[in-house]
Amino acid sequence: MEIKAIRGFNDILPDEIGKWQFVEKTAREIFEGFGFSEIRIPILERTELFSRGIGEATDIVEKEMYTFTDRGGNSLTLRPEATASMARAYLEHQMYSFDPVAKLYSMGPMFRYERPQKGRYRQFYQIDAEVFGVGNPMVDAEVIIMLIHFLGRVGLENLELQINTLGCRECRPRYREELKRFFEGKSGQLCEDCQRRLHSNPLRIFDCKVETCKEAIQDAPRVTDFICPDCQKHFDQVKDYLAMSGLAYILNPRLVRGLDYYTRTAFEVVSYSLGAQNAVTGGGRYDNLFQEIGGLDVPGIGFAVGVERLISLLSKEKEFVQHPQLFVAALGEEGYKEAYRVVNLLHLQGIRAELDYERKSLKSQMRRADKLKAHYALILGEEELKKGKVVLRNMENKSQEEIPIDGIVNVLKEKIVSD
Ligand SMILES: [Zn+2]
Ligand SMILES: [Zn+2]
Repeated sequence: MEIKAIRGFNDILPDEIGKWQFVEKTAREIFEGFGFSEIRIPILERTELFSRGIGEATDIVEKEMYTFTDRGGNSLTLRPEATASMARAYLEHQMYSFDPVAKLYSMGPMFRYERPQKGRYRQFYQIDAEVFGVGNPMVDAEVIIMLIHFLGRVGLENLELQINTLGCRECRPRYREELKRFFEGKSGQLCEDCQRRLHSNPLRIFDCKVETCKEAIQDAPRVTDFICPDCQKHFDQVKDYLAMSGLAYILNPRLVRGLDYYTRTAFEVVSYSLGAQNAVTGGGRYDNLFQEIGGLDVPGIGFAVGVERLISLLSKEKEFVQHPQLFVAALGEEGYKEAYRVVNLLHLQGIRAELDYERKSLKSQMRRADKLKAHYALILGEEELKKGKVVLRNMENKSQEEIPIDGIVNVLKEKIVSD
């Protein structure tokens, strides 16, 4: 029986990889320009890192984690997100002992056992950026500015930045109670999941997609009416810093992130470019996470960008597939030898050159050059070679010229690179 990939686990094929590389390269450039450094964290962690860090009463921990017992009897989990691991690494390596501020980014696959559907996979990719060790609202705005700048550089248009505050340990419990009271009055309208959330984590009802729940949410009390003066001040300053940078935003009091550890600033970026409204990415502050996993009081803020979603929003016009810069077609024994020599020299110069391995007819070699969308073709014919010449054809406008074989690599390099 033919072995296939696991459901929800995808191959990313060479004709799609250009988009991925472009997104990742842009993220590296932008984030490093903002003073962030890359960190690579393991794919497997102890299960309690996530159950404590993300919170027991979340969908992720309750039903979406890939958890198993290893041969040593330890409960391990394939990471469902990156923030908890990054925070663990910060604590474990005492990164704070050199400087309390750590600006980190990471990219790679995450794993969640969700029902596979279009655009949602069990292995999916995220680009994460986090700042640990700063509670100042300046950094909230900085992270948001970096995110918007990144999305703009990737080419996303019609973006809307939505922000909210979620309060802190002091003021959030009061809001939670109020919310609980409110939803208890509407419990007939709530779906089964939300009935449960009502007791475990009523804030998560805001994330529900069920119609009747969405209706119940309409008149729910707003967190902004319950926050303490410190949280209010923090939120006002975030708004000031955003305004100072000329970044437009919308206040969205319904923006409540599902994870328990979020505090204060929450944000989401919505795209309107494909007609419909699409949440592109989001993030926020999580000043309680570190205490959950390590006992230290370290503030944190960051975001995670879903790469599959981002790629689905990239411009359809931009060309991401890499075609050969040159296809070398040859005839006869001498022609093939010469072609092989030239192609190898070009490869050493970083020129993407392709040749025929099958000794096909010139016609079929040129067909392949066309199919591969090579920009140029170099034709090494027997007659021309005897005169020390070869033919260079521009595959786009079909013009061609004879050039001497002597010093050909330099001539080609110049032509192809300047093209
Ligand atoms: Zn507060
Ligand atoms: Zn619901």
